[in-house]
Amino acid sequence: MKIAILKEQAAGERRVAGTPETVKKFIALGASVAVEAGAGATASIADEAYVTAGASVGDRAATLAGADILLGVQGPDPASLGGAAAGAWIVAGLNPFGERARVDAYAAAGYEALAMEFMPRITRAQSMDILSSQSNLSGYKAVLDAAAEYDRAFPMMMTAAGTVSAAKCFVMGVGVAGLQAIATARRLGAQVSATDVRAATKEQIESLGAKAIFVEKVAGIEGEGTGGYATEMSDEYKAAQAELVSSHIAKQDIVITTALIPGRPAPRLISDAQIASMKPGSVIVDLAVEQGGNVEGVRVGEVHETANGVKILGRPNLPGRVAADASALYARNLLAFAGLLFDKAGALAPDFEDEILKAALVARGGMVVHLALMPREILGV
Ligand code: NAD
Repeated sequence: MKIAILKEQAAGERRVAGTPETVKKFIALGASVAVEAGAGATASIADEAYVTAGASVGDRAATLAGADILLGVQGPDPASLGGAAAGAWIVAGLNPFGERARVDAYAAAGYEALAMEFMPRITRAQSMDILSSQSNLSGYKAVLDAAAEYDRAFPMMMTAAGTVSAAKCFVMGVGVAGLQAIATARRLGAQVSATDVRAATKEQIESLGAKAIFVEKVAGIEGEGTGGYATEMSDEYKAAQAELVSSHIAKQDIVITTALIPGRPAPRLISDAQIASMKPGSVIVDLAVEQGGNVEGVRVGEVHETANGVKILGRPNLPGRVAADASALYARNLLAFAGLLFDKAGALAPDFEDEILKAALVARGGMVVHLALMPREILGV
């Protein structure tokens, strides 16, 4: 069985889907591994390191030739996959809702495609969960980005020339990224508060030493929410949340938003009017920018300043800017997951009854097969 690790082609993508560590482990499982030359360069991994680990390194055509499994960080361009084995498996973060046409093209070309972001949130799949491994680094990087743009200090400092007060940081959306953002901002010395719609996050916020700011008038989502995910909230909840945020946000220096709803545009959490109430020099980082943004007026790929001097950061792909660590974790997620595709003798033998494989499978036998990608008329909902 041949595994190909492709060089990412998307602009700004610095991560790589395999590392020398995972290459060695794939080889120990009985596979041969080919790596596209330069694939690891932007994640600080030289081609020679892959060779030392036992991989062959060559151009894209040589890497793809006869490959049974193609590993990527993002879904590779279907037109760039010539030479792979018929019915080869594509395993990557396919962004199936955002890049639906690409999934259709994989199906049409007869590839079997697995979307890593559809990993179910069950204990057995934790080691394969790319959303968790990458979001954790996003939360960290968001705070560092904010600190870099902020023209004041995060920690309180008592100096002979007077006192510098601690930055006030508000985190909206306390999933994996939000929790890491809270922890990172606390380490830098900020005074941190946070909010979410899922009740279970209140205790998590407090256990990190931050203040929980929650809508009390209208019930949010009980406990963890289904699979740890939020849903669209009622208009009544949204109005209560807007009121709560309005009174809190004007006092904040840094706001990090991370709120997402699977398969839907990101919820709008901060309006122009709320931004206008903030102090000049405040910084907002919108981690949901690629899903439409939590912040009114956020621009993908840009840092812009509003008329009242608030900086809004819309940088996409934050894990791609912590590429070495993000790749190491992502590659381990793929290694754990690809184990489901082999039998003990190292031959390709996917267990289609496995709930993890079923959840991630988006294209098989020439068709798009995932329920979440079916038209509503077919599902009858
Ligand atoms: P996510 O990226 O889908 O969303 C980020 C956060 O935004 C969530 O906490 C969500 O509740 C919040 N949010 C959504 N709409 C909001 C709104 N209108 N206002 C405020 N906040 C809003 O979430 P995530 O980071 O993927 O993780 C969510 C949960 O799943 C976490 O509790 C995590 O621990 C859990 N999880 C479990 C597993 C597992 O068991 N294998 C794996 C990963 C994550």
